[in-house]
Amino acid sequence: MHDVDSILSTIFHLPSFRPRQREIITDVLAGRDALVVMPTGAGKSLCYQLPAVALRGLTLIISPLISLMTDQVRQLRDLRIPAMMLTSGQPREEQRAVMDRMRDGFRGLLFVAPERFAAPGFQAIITSRKLSLLAIDEAHCISQWGHDFRPEYLRLGEVRQQLGDPLTVALTATATAQVRQDIVRSLRLKDAAIHVTGFDRPNLRYQSITFRKAKDKQDELVDYLRRRKTGGIVYCSTRKQVEMVTDLLASELRGRPIVAYHAGMDPEARQTNQQRFIEHEEAIVVATNAFGMGINKPNLRYVVHFNLPGSLEAYYQEAGRAGRDGKSAECILYFAAADVMTQKFFIDKIGDGNSQLARRDIGPLQRRATQQLDAMQRYARWERCRRHQILEYFGENTAPVDCHCDVCVASAGAGVPLRAGPPRELVYVREDDVREDAEHEAYSARRVVTSRKTTVRKSPPSATRTAVRGKALSSPHDSKTTAKKSVRAPSEKINAEQVGVRYGNAVAVRFQRLRALRLQLTKQLHRLPFQVLHDSTLIELARQRPRTMRELMKIGGIGEKKAEQFGAALLKELAKD
Ligand code: ADP
Ligand code: MG
Repeated sequence: MHDVDSILSTIFHLPSFRPRQREIITDVLAGRDALVVMPTGAGKSLCYQLPAVALRGLTLIISPLISLMTDQVRQLRDLRIPAMMLTSGQPREEQRAVMDRMRDGFRGLLFVAPERFAAPGFQAIITSRKLSLLAIDEAHCISQWGHDFRPEYLRLGEVRQQLGDPLTVALTATATAQVRQDIVRSLRLKDAAIHVTGFDRPNLRYQSITFRKAKDKQDELVDYLRRRKTGGIVYCSTRKQVEMVTDLLASELRGRPIVAYHAGMDPEARQTNQQRFIEHEEAIVVATNAFGMGINKPNLRYVVHFNLPGSLEAYYQEAGRAGRDGKSAECILYFAAADVMTQKFFIDKIGDGNSQLARRDIGPLQRRATQQLDAMQRYARWERCRRHQILEYFGENTAPVDCHCDVCVASAGAGVPLRAGPPRELVYVREDDVREDAEHEAYSARRVVTSRKTTVRKSPPSATRTAVRGKALSSPHDSKTTAKKSVRAPSEKINAEQVGVRYGNAVAVRFQRLRALRLQLTKQLHRLPFQVLHDSTLIELARQRPRTMRELMKIGGIGEKKAEQFGAALLKELAKD
């Protein structure tokens, strides 16, 4: 019997297990393979580290990134647990020393990348040793349906067999059933215990803002960050965007440490920037999806996605880096039609320069990526509890309670749920900021995009350069109230979604709240809505957010009389955000 509690306190210096850790560890120590699916930051590492210590033999950990390994090895050594890593980044002598220690019967944790099995010598040494435990971290990289697919991970099933089917733990934060299935099948796990812990992160406040013009994001971001004192992450989908946003913030937020991070930078600069980010409380990092794995900064109060990511898996993993300490944090997504173009561009590029991917696999991969992108878009545009959407996507069907996402906050303000129909797909035209410099490091970190390909899908219906189409959605709430009254002013045709598309979700949400207020006033005064205030006036109020009576009276449609009648109530409502 292993005394897991005493190992936890005496070796790991931790007071108690987090939810499910004990169960998983006990299972593993009983000799059962395990697939562990837990959200980022939940504490997956302990699920193999503690058994590794308890078993006292050699544990081999497969990890996709050197930065992840470095972090783990350092933390383990701080705890005086024997740990080493073997990577192509180490000097030759160091690699040789690690191999020597392996030959001498090293007991402890050895971290390697999956590519290591192709290196001469390593295979021979590792197969000559008996493993107590094999851990596959970030195991979703095995799945071609995952957002981080690595062809080298595909070989791990074979490797595992060569190692004599050792006790195995696979760990990931990606929970979709398809990915889980792929992991089990690919690693040839038999009778593995599958541990899936909840994905709900009640402390995260989700928000999605739709921009009609991609350029408007810049003002919103600067405005947002000015109001935040602490540091955070701003994710962009391309290197070009990272550079643009870094420059923007450096000039607009003088004095704040702003660092960039993407795979096109040289490793030294990346390392320096990452270090600056970790060390400075107020540092803001502007990065592509190359950034974040293995970053241990639990008190991040916000993660902003300046562009739409390719999938909800990717989004949740990145956004989930906020608020790991369990305290309230914001996950904000900026959405514009141009983002979809960028992602479609990446999808078109799947398979380019990746010789390990068979031709016949490319079509299905692209189809799957398109579905994932559709789901991501739906999340961004559907005015339905965002937390619920995320949980549903990961297979959890409980409706969250006490949610603070933008949709829930708005509908609480309006006293009614916002609309619940999924948005139709957008039709896009090419935008200037989609270029061949686009990168998607999740698909291939080393790929060089060579071909110049135009991604125009549809011509715009008019001379307009950018068109956002798709049936404008009317709110069931709106149509119900107006239908009942059977009298409606022409302006009543405007709905929150249209306002959102035009002015962004923040304005739409405010508009919706003002409407709810108007409804109250309408009832109190026995008037019709448009006799109280026109929709166009409400939109102006939502956009300009007057703070004083003077400012209020500058809004078209508000004269002295209306200011006197409704001014106080309107200002009170507008002061809420
Ligand atoms: P994951 O791999 O699931 O993203 P990690 O294993 O990196 O998460 O753990 C995230 C953080 O939680 C680390 O700082 C780790 O030390 C901490 N942690 C893990 N288990 C516990 C525990 N039982 N009690 C306190 N902290 C823990
Ligand atoms: Mg981890």
